[in-house]
Amino acid sequence: MQKLIKQASPAIAPDATTRPATRPCEPVASISVVVPIYNEFDNINPLHAELSAALEAIGKPYEIIFVDDGSTDGSRDRLEALAATDRAVRILEFRRNYGQTAAMKAGIDHATMEAIVTIDGDRQNDPADIAPMIAALEEGADLVHGWRKHRQDAMLSRKIPSWLANRLISRMTGFPIRDLGCTLKVMRRSLLMEIELYGDMHRFIPILLHERGARCREMETHHRPRVAGQTKYGIGRTLKVLLDLMTVKYLLDYARHPMRLFGGLGLVALLASFLFLATTIGMKIAMDFDMTGNPFLLASVVSALAALQLLSLGIIGEILARLYYGQSGRKSYSVRRLVNFADDGTAGDVTGAIPAPFTGRTSA
Ligand code: UDP
Ligand code: MG
Repeated sequence: MQKLIKQASPAIAPDATTRPATRPCEPVASISVVVPIYNEFDNINPLHAELSAALEAIGKPYEIIFVDDGSTDGSRDRLEALAATDRAVRILEFRRNYGQTAAMKAGIDHATMEAIVTIDGDRQNDPADIAPMIAALEEGADLVHGWRKHRQDAMLSRKIPSWLANRLISRMTGFPIRDLGCTLKVMRRSLLMEIELYGDMHRFIPILLHERGARCREMETHHRPRVAGQTKYGIGRTLKVLLDLMTVKYLLDYARHPMRLFGGLGLVALLASFLFLATTIGMKIAMDFDMTGNPFLLASVVSALAALQLLSLGIIGEILARLYYGQSGRKSYSVRRLVNFADDGTAGDVTGAIPAPFTGRTSA
C-alpha cells in the first residue's frame, strides 16, 4: 500500500484503496468554505484576506462560512464586522463551545455550494492549497484530504502521538492515510451529507466516506506554525481519538449487521459453555471429581450467561440498525449516479424518460 503511494506523483498521491476516476472531468460549480472559529481573534482578518484572494483566483462562486464555536475573545464581533463588508461571508454562531466537529458539521449543514472546503481558522493551513485540491476534485475525486508533510506543531505532544495514531488507524481500518488530523479537505457536498459527524469524528471523514465508496485522494499541503492565538488541544486528544477509532471500526465493519459481531461472540461463548460442562461431567465420570466444587461448572454457567447476553445484544443491535436505516431516512448504500431517472431519483415521466431503443448508430 505504501509503495503505491510513493510511486504516485508527489503533488497528488492517490490512496491505494481509491477507486479509479472513471470520469475524466467533473467541473465544480461553486465552493463553500467552512471555518471553525474558537477564540481566533487575531487570525480572522488575515485568514479572510488570504481565503478571499485564493477563492477569487479560482474564479467560481463561493461562500465562506465562519462557525463561531462559543468564542469569548471578541472573535464574534470581528466576524460580524467582516460579514457587514463582505457578502460572501456567512456566520453561524453557537450558543456555547461545542467543539470543532460540531462546528464543522453545522457549517457543512448550512453550506449551499457544490464543493465543501474545511479549513482551520488559525491560519496553519494555507488557502493557496485549495485551488489544486479543487482541481483534483474535478479530475474525478470525491474527497481530497491534506497531508501536512512538514507539520509545524510541537514534536512530543502532537507530532509523535499523531504519527502513532495515524499508523494505528490506518492499519485497523485498512485505509492508507498519513494525516487524519488535517482539517484542510475538499469534498463533494452531496456525499458528505450522507455521513453523521459528532464527538471528534471530523478526523474520520475520509474513512467514513471511503467506506461509502468515495474516491479519496491525499494531497500534500503546506502547514505553518501558529502565529496568533493558542492551540485548543494537547496530548489528551490522542486518547479520545483512539476511543473514537473503536466506534469507527464498529461502524465500518458491523453497523449494518450487528448480529455478525455479537452473534459470533455469543456462539463462541455458547460453545465454551458446552465444553466446560462436558469437562465437568467428564471429570465426574472418569475421576469422580465433585461437580459442584469444580470451577469448570462455574465457567460453564458464566459462559452460558455471556452467550445469552451477547445474542440478545445482537438482536437488539439488528432492531436498532433497522430503525436507524428505516426511519431516519438514512441509506445503507450510496448512489454515485442515476441514468434516465428524474432528478428526484424516481422513474419520473416514464414516457419521456425511456430513451429510444439503441440502433447501433447515432443520428447526425
Ligand atoms: N476549534 C473550534 N472549537 C474547539 C476547538 C477548536 O472551533 O472547541 C477550531 C479552532 O479555532 C481552529 C481549529 O478548530 O480553527 C483547529 O484548532 P487548533 O488550531 O487548536 O488545533 P490544532 O491545529 O492545534 O490541532
Ligand atoms: Mg491549529
